[in-house]
Amino acid sequence: MNLRLPGPIPVPNEILEAMAKPMINHRGPAYKEMLARITDRLKQVFQTTGDVYILTASGTGAMEATITNTLSPSDKVLCASIGGFGHRFAEIARIFGADVVMLNSAPGTSIKLDKLHSVLESDPAISAVLVTHNETSTGVTNDLEKIADIVKKEFNKLLLVDGISSVGSLPLQTDAWGCDVVATASQKGWMLPPGLAFISFSEKAWEANATSTMPKFYFDLSEYRSYFAKGQPPWTPAISQMFALDLALEEMMTQGLDNIYQQHAEIGKFTRDGLRTLGLTILPEESIASNSVTAVCVPDGIDVKNLLMQLDENHGVILAAGQDSLAEKIFRIGHMGRTTKGEIENVLNSLTSVLTNLGFNPAQSR
Ligand SMILES: *Cc1c(COP(=O)(O)O)cnc(C)c1O
Repeated sequence: MNLRLPGPIPVPNEILEAMAKPMINHRGPAYKEMLARITDRLKQVFQTTGDVYILTASGTGAMEATITNTLSPSDKVLCASIGGFGHRFAEIARIFGADVVMLNSAPGTSIKLDKLHSVLESDPAISAVLVTHNETSTGVTNDLEKIADIVKKEFNKLLLVDGISSVGSLPLQTDAWGCDVVATASQKGWMLPPGLAFISFSEKAWEANATSTMPKFYFDLSEYRSYFAKGQPPWTPAISQMFALDLALEEMMTQGLDNIYQQHAEIGKFTRDGLRTLGLTILPEESIASNSVTAVCVPDGIDVKNLLMQLDENHGVILAAGQDSLAEKIFRIGHMGRTTKGEIENVLNSLTSVLTNLGFNPAQSR
C-alpha cells in the first residue's frame, strides 16, 4: 500500500514498535527525563528558546488552544485565510466569541502582502493575526517570514500560526520570524500516528494569556507550564505516543533539520515535475507550491471519485480528495516525512494507468 495523504503518513516500523513498550509512571523520574529530552528537541525543530507543550489532541485541538489561550471574547482578530484550514482557524475564534475580520485569498493563491498591510493599517483595533503557514487543502505555502515582518515588525500584533503541515517539514523559524504561537500535529511531517499536537508559546503570547478570558480547561496552557516546572504533564499523557515521539525526534536530530527541509524540497519538486510530464496541472503556481503536499487539478471530463477509487483498488495508491468547493476540482498527494522518489514514481505510474483507463491520454494532452 502506498499511503500518500497529507496526514496520516506512513510510520516507520521502529516507531510503531516503540509504542508497544510497557507503561511507565507519568509522575515518575523516567517520564520526567523523557519529557525534558523531548521538549528540548521539539524546541530545536520549532527553532525557539520559548515554551513548547505537548497536547493529547489532533491538530485542531492545538488550533483551539492557540485561540483560547491568547484571546478574549470580542477581541478583534484578522484571519488571513487561503483555504479550508484558514477558515477553520477563523471558525474556532468566532465560536469562542472573537470578532473575526477575514482577508480571503482565492483557492491556490497565497496571502497578498500589500492587502495584509492595508487591512492592518486601516483597522488598528485588530489585536491578533491568524495565518496558516502551509495550506494543506490547496497545496500552498505562504511566505510566513514576510507575513511576520508585517504583522510583527510593522504593526506589532500577536501572530498565531497554524504550522500543522509545515513544522518539521518546511523551514519555519519561530523565534527569528517572531511567531507568537505555532501549532502542529504528529500525523504530518513527524512520521507519527495521529494523536499528539505540539504548540509553541512566546513571551508575548504569555502576556496575552495573562488577560485572556476565553474559557479553557483541558487545553489551559498555564496548567501545562506549572506542571512542566515539575517535569510532568497536567493530565495523563498518551504515554505510548510519547515513546514514539521520543524515537522520531532522535531520528530527526540524526537526519538534521536542513537535510529534512532539503529532502522535502526535492520530493516536492520531483512530484510536481512528474505530474506536469503527465500533462496535469498543479493548482498553485510553482513559486508558492507546497513541498509537503501537492494539489493537482482534475482534468476535464474525469470523475475524481472514480479516479481515487481506482488508484486505491487497482494500485494500492491512496491519495486525498479536495475539500469543500474544491472537492470535484482537485486531488492531493502528500509527501511529508521520508517519502521516496520510488514511492512518487509509483503514484505517477498508477495515475498514468488509471487516467488512461478513464479516457485521458497523459502523453497527448500536453
Ligand atoms: C491537518 C491539518 C489541520 C487539522 O489537523 P487535525 O489533526 O486533522 O485536527 C489543520 N491545519 C492544517 C494546515 C493541517 O494540515
